[in-house]
Amino acid sequence: MQHIIDRFISYVTVDTEADPNSNTTPSSAKQWDLANKLVEELKAIGLQDVSIDDKAYIQATLPSNIDEKVPTIGFVSHFDTTPDFTGANVKPQIVKNYDGGDIILNAEKNIVLSPSYFEDLLLYKGQTLITTDGTTLLGADDKAGITEIVTAMEYLIQNPHIKHGTIKVGFTPDEEIGRGADFFDVEKFGCDWAYTMDGSQIGELEYENFNAAGVKLKFKGKSVHPGYAKGKMINAMTLAAKFITALPAGETPEETQDYEGFYHVVHLDGSIEDTNVQMIIRDHDRTKFEARKVHVQKMIDDLNAKYAKQFGGDIVEIEIKDQYYNMREKVEPVMHIVDIAEKAMKNLGITPIVKPIRGGTDGSRLSYMGLPCPNIFAGGHNFHGKYEYVPVESIQSAINVIVEIAQIVAKQK
Ligand SMILES: [Zn+2]
Repeated sequence: MQHIIDRFISYVTVDTEADPNSNTTPSSAKQWDLANKLVEELKAIGLQDVSIDDKAYIQATLPSNIDEKVPTIGFVSHFDTTPDFTGANVKPQIVKNYDGGDIILNAEKNIVLSPSYFEDLLLYKGQTLITTDGTTLLGADDKAGITEIVTAMEYLIQNPHIKHGTIKVGFTPDEEIGRGADFFDVEKFGCDWAYTMDGSQIGELEYENFNAAGVKLKFKGKSVHPGYAKGKMINAMTLAAKFITALPAGETPEETQDYEGFYHVVHLDGSIEDTNVQMIIRDHDRTKFEARKVHVQKMIDDLNAKYAKQFGGDIVEIEIKDQYYNMREKVEPVMHIVDIAEKAMKNLGITPIVKPIRGGTDGSRLSYMGLPCPNIFAGGHNFHGKYEYVPVESIQSAINVIVEIAQIVAKQK
């Protein structure tokens, strides 16, 4: 257990916050600090062909120790952390034998991790939790995943009686800003399939995510002195507000769950002549997703038609861009890869929690790049903020799942 804690802490205390405003890869130079350290560690534990490219993508191989030809599988996670909350000077706190009560993260600032708000904590009574000191995120997303993959590989190397086929390891930068799959060399990775170790609660197993599009809208207007504006002024802000309220009722993130899709306005700024709206469209169902895009386009077309004469041209500019798609389409034809993960969990007494992701993962992008890639729990909770925590027992369980999957695949013909 201490071995896992030490390894995890050695990762989270290296700041790897991604920078969405940068065009380089990795987006922040500090991601190299952990990337280089990981390369040394992968070599030290005895993996083969350890490589890092000029964009900090890491790959390594655990060679097969059986004669039979079985599928080559991979395990993937990301070493960057989200720019939503600071990842500098992380000071992890260890709570041993958690008693089910409040955890004081920071007495001075009165920051408390409480099961009365975060009920999931009660699942881990009696376990060892790693938390923040209330001033940073923890980075279990996804340094828990890295800890699990490295430790599982080390375990397999140290226990050669456990039979497995070829296993590949892939670590990426910049997942948190949606670029983790951008330069992933799927061909070099050479896997039949892979798993991202990037889910949350123990048992999570995911192979469905949203179809996603981003929409940029520019509402234009006409400014006229308000005293003489009747029939002349067009207020872009009012137009934008009417558009937003005319979006289908009850279809926002705060009103939907499970397989329900949504429209989500993420940004609004404006003046009379120039108002910008940004929104995202999400739906698991591809047909409904396409229909949502058509609906927004139609609303704007109607507005443009309505104001064509008075404004003398299109009063709204619209740009709709697809961002990613539901990996289900790519995973369903090879459903045994989900079944194997599910079987591994059941063999270990872990109840699989199979549910659709209300978001995307690198696995969804990788699935469309030719590497089917479901997502397995990494064990952490409350990602992207100061209440992030991870039970060490969940990290251990994820390590066991990796080892179990390796053994199941070794028996595949
Ligand atoms: Zn993650």
